[in-house]
Amino acid sequence: MHLSDHDLRQLDDDYLGRLTPEQARALLPKVIADLKAARERLAQNPSNSSRPPSSRAPWEGIDDAGEADDGTPPSPDAQEAEAPATTARSTPARRPKRNNNSGGSNPGRRKGAPGHSRTQTLPVDAEQVHAPQCCAACGRALDGSGEAHAYTAYYTLDLIRPEGGAGGLVLHHTKHLCLEERCACGHCTRAQPGRCGPDEAWTVALSEWHLAGPSLVAFICALTQRMRLSRARVREFLVDWLGLSLSTAVINQCVHEAARAVEPVVEQEILAQVRNVELLYADETAWKEHGRLLWLWVFTCATATLFIVGRRTRRMVQRVLGEHFNNWLMSDGYCVYRDIDQRLRCLAHLIRKAHGLEESLEPQAQAFGRHVLDVIETVIAAVYDARGAPEHAAGLRARHAPALNALLEDCGRLANDARHEKARALARELLNDWDTFWVVLDHPELPLTNNEAERALRHWVIARRIGMGTRTAQGTRAFALLASVIETCRKRHASPWDYLAEVVRQRRRGLPAPPLPLPAG
Ligand SMILES: [Zn+2]
Repeated sequence: MHLSDHDLRQLDDDYLGRLTPEQARALLPKVIADLKAARERLAQNPSNSSRPPSSRAPWEGIDDAGEADDGTPPSPDAQEAEAPATTARSTPARRPKRNNNSGGSNPGRRKGAPGHSRTQTLPVDAEQVHAPQCCAACGRALDGSGEAHAYTAYYTLDLIRPEGGAGGLVLHHTKHLCLEERCACGHCTRAQPGRCGPDEAWTVALSEWHLAGPSLVAFICALTQRMRLSRARVREFLVDWLGLSLSTAVINQCVHEAARAVEPVVEQEILAQVRNVELLYADETAWKEHGRLLWLWVFTCATATLFIVGRRTRRMVQRVLGEHFNNWLMSDGYCVYRDIDQRLRCLAHLIRKAHGLEESLEPQAQAFGRHVLDVIETVIAAVYDARGAPEHAAGLRARHAPALNALLEDCGRLANDARHEKARALARELLNDWDTFWVVLDHPELPLTNNEAERALRHWVIARRIGMGTRTAQGTRAFALLASVIETCRKRHASPWDYLAEVVRQRRRGLPAPPLPLPAG
């Protein structure tokens, strides 16, 4: 928008009558552009929003049907049998949604409970004056020669590293004075703090008119996401160590604002990286959102990590990987991955299960466990050998075919008839995904385990235990967005916090987010 409400209030017949044709000619294009933008916004709804459907994030519409409201997970069969009629009802339901069935209280302050507004007055150590650059109506450059005075002020707190590589952090409390200046044409223009346009998916504004500066926002995100402190603990820490009294609402706002700032980075850069990498690892674990059962998914590769909270469905995987995913995917045995052509299964999972059977008291199950372990040990030894001496790699699959066929026969026999339930389950699991376990014989360079994805989840699983999941849809989304950017920066050996501060700084000015740091090496 070119003209603020303050500008529009001044535009009337009298003012227009005083303008020269040139000045009027300068004003008209701004009015037309603003009118078009306003009309388009009026006509916007979820089905024709400015974002094309292909750019719709995979985690949008996670509230679709198919899930039990009491938070119990539907059976995998029920999840798979999604009726088209219900899946078509895909609305970008990302606003915090109240869930009254879970028995818990709603997020936020109770009515009548004491609030924590800002009670502290820190000394101001710097003053910044913001003057308008040119007339909002006629476009003439304003050089401060006209009648100018401050019409408002706001304060920011920021944590800055000292110059020259010295350690520590310095707290800056800055007063920002916003000036208004009258142009020779008579129009009075105001310098406005930077802000990113509204986004109906977010209740938090992305604006310079916020108490916490970009580096303090990144610092708070480090405490909540990386150090896994609750909002209340962050508040306590800031008071105790920095003499800084911020309410938990302001702390929460900082986290959500940072997440909103990095949203395009995740939806564009990280998503594209994950879709186009040669080898991707995927895993998923349960996640609670205000008592509702969801899943935290991770998709990770050597240079990026994407986290998404949503339902555990095949459609979820398709939305992340796109229609044309044609690379290697290492995953667990969950059936939603079975559409992927080039799939690998983690042998470590198989080893754990076979060990369990080997220790069983039932002789048939014990023998089967031993058989599976023998085959896996042989395969792993052959893969390591081929990695060390590439000339051994040729014909690996053929050389081990007799051993694999013997195991396949054993599985076929036990899948229905095994006396031990777990032996039956393991035989069926092997049959279901037979080839994916032995792909490494054709491609010894591929990994044997899904440790990469499991490691990526571990930190956030602990966060889930401490924080009991998230409280609102926006909080869930903020969690996944920030986790994706933090882990991706860490994979690239770059500071997530410097990057996060820079993204917040640029996006608050209404500018695009800077690109992610490049992978090291
Ligand atoms: Zn003017």
